[in-house]
Amino acid sequence: MEKKFLKLKPGREKPLLRHHCWIFSGAVAEVVGAPAPGETIDVVDAAGKFLARAAWSPNSQLSGRVWSFNESEAIDEAFFVRRIAAAVGLRSFLGLNTPGSGCRLIHSEGDNLPGLIVDRYGEYLAVQILSAGVERHRDEILAALMSVTNAKGIYERSDVPVRAREGLPERTGLLCGEALPNPIIITENDCRFAVDVRHGQKTGFYFDQRDSRRAVARLASGRRVLNLFSYTGGFGVAAAVAGAEHVVNVDSSAPALALAAHNMEMNKIAAARYENHCADAFEELRRFRDEGRSFDLIVLDPPKFIESQRALTRGCRAYQDIARLGFELLAPGGVLFNFSCSGLMTPELFQKITADAALEANVSGVMLQRLSQSADHPVSLAVPEGFYLKGLVTRIAG
Ligand code: SAH
Repeated sequence: MEKKFLKLKPGREKPLLRHHCWIFSGAVAEVVGAPAPGETIDVVDAAGKFLARAAWSPNSQLSGRVWSFNESEAIDEAFFVRRIAAAVGLRSFLGLNTPGSGCRLIHSEGDNLPGLIVDRYGEYLAVQILSAGVERHRDEILAALMSVTNAKGIYERSDVPVRAREGLPERTGLLCGEALPNPIIITENDCRFAVDVRHGQKTGFYFDQRDSRRAVARLASGRRVLNLFSYTGGFGVAAAVAGAEHVVNVDSSAPALALAAHNMEMNKIAAARYENHCADAFEELRRFRDEGRSFDLIVLDPPKFIESQRALTRGCRAYQDIARLGFELLAPGGVLFNFSCSGLMTPELFQKITADAALEANVSGVMLQRLSQSADHPVSLAVPEGFYLKGLVTRIAG
């Protein structure tokens, strides 16, 4: 049988020589042997020299994602056991594999498993399969996950639009083991959270903000807190548990806010100490401004406003508008935590937008801290695109 392989155009091997794991369609000179979607094939340079072993994605702009740069490494169940064990080992090293907690166990390129996301909720796992290569190996990956983690059950949440670009249908459901409790309760920092893995956003919880929730908790005692884009109340619960005087959560999702209320109760926060508003965050900020309300600490953690290069200008404007409204609602000496999870937003640009927003709001301030995704969302040195979450803590003059 003819060997299947992918040959790159001259000069297009450079990223792979630096162990970047993406092969863009524009770099491909030819594909030999008609590989099936997701099939593992060798990648060679224009002279035919081996570069990497990768998964073939014929329907995507990203034609290949590298599994291994080692010519003698087979992509089989043992390979996935090694990679998954390394990822789990990193979380243990970080002290995040404690009973009753949750964390991101596998962060795609950051764990050298491009296209695979796995979150751990106590003894259960939620997986997202984002690429044709992972889809093709799903049985081996599941078996490897079970053998490394001994999970009680694994649930799939591959209901994400990016799968369409890989020619894959959306998919959800129990993959193996027993059904997950609904909601499932996890502990983070000093808080308890109920998570709906089946219907929640992503796989149910934003573990990437764990460190930032702790940073908010440190400054929250005695403060009036406004938590915009609250989802299930993550920052609001952290602030309340840390002694905030009062917390307002705002989100446009009613089911998310229902869980936020449940989470406040579960953490024994008296009903008088919080409000949950189901509303558009921009409108709610304007309403609060018109009512003359003010807050001591405001968290702005919006969804991704910049999905593509084309959306950059509009997205930046949205980040700036929301930050300006936030600054306008702060009492003198108040603190703004604003975030961007758009990969296309650079830290420099985000800082400039925040500074421009403060100018527009007619306040001056100092940056206290820069925040980013928690360490269970590692970024491969070879694939810096994995760094996506930026946060700035700014205190305005008193
Ligand atoms: N801070 C949260 C995660 C926020 S995710 C945590 O720590 O868990 C972003 C949230 O913004 C989602 O819950 C989504 O429902 C909400 N959202 C999106 N657009 C919105 C809008 N225009 N107004 C209010 N909420 C919005």
